[in-house]
Amino acid sequence: MRINIAIDGPSAAGKSSVSDMLAEKLGYTHLDTGGMYRSVAYLAYKHDVETDDEDKVVSLILNNRFEFKSDGQVLLNGEDISEAIRKEEISMAASNVSKNPKVREALVAMQQNIAKDKGYILDGRDIGTVVLKDAEVKIYLTASAEDRALRRYEQNKAKGMEADYEKILKEIKIRDHQDMNRSFSPLKKADDAYEIDSSKLTIEEVVAKIMDIVAKKI
Ligand code: C5P
Repeated sequence: MRINIAIDGPSAAGKSSVSDMLAEKLGYTHLDTGGMYRSVAYLAYKHDVETDDEDKVVSLILNNRFEFKSDGQVLLNGEDISEAIRKEEISMAASNVSKNPKVREALVAMQQNIAKDKGYILDGRDIGTVVLKDAEVKIYLTASAEDRALRRYEQNKAKGMEADYEKILKEIKIRDHQDMNRSFSPLKKADDAYEIDSSKLTIEEVVAKIMDIVAKKI
């Protein structure tokens, strides 16, 4: 039996790496919904549209072609923007653009359509609470802001990207606050989600815990 798995949590808790590894083990497809909000923020930035100009942002979504590949590659009108959307300034812009209800509605509809046939792992902020309320397995992956900042710092350094621990920690805290306190679909643990604190666990250990939960469902 194929199921859907919802993985929510704050930024840099390890959602993407965990989802990729789970997808490989289960032969499922991982959809990084944060990448979708990032792509929209990138598009708004390119077109000089303010992130809070809801109608203009929605019109950009409708008039451009996004492709979200299962290996995480993102194409915008055929152009590979996978790396460009990972820049720190786009992280904040994605958090800003994601506050708009109409933008969320458009992306949630796309996400639900993609996952309708089961066999999907969606990671984001509102997957267990809004996008896939009926997901068979829901995980809320968390860790302290300091542990997450350190993880992002090390990832950035390894990729040769800008790496300033204090700056990353500050941005993580701002983004946490914004994502958890917005009025529409704030980040919160679904009542039926399993909470896993990844602070002292390796990615493999987190994946093993989730695989145990999945095994009981399928
Ligand atoms: O997960 P990631 O850090 O790539 O997400 C970027 C931003 O997109 C988040 O800070 C959050 O504001 C927004 N987001 C969201 N809902 C999702 C996924 C991401 O609001 N399902």
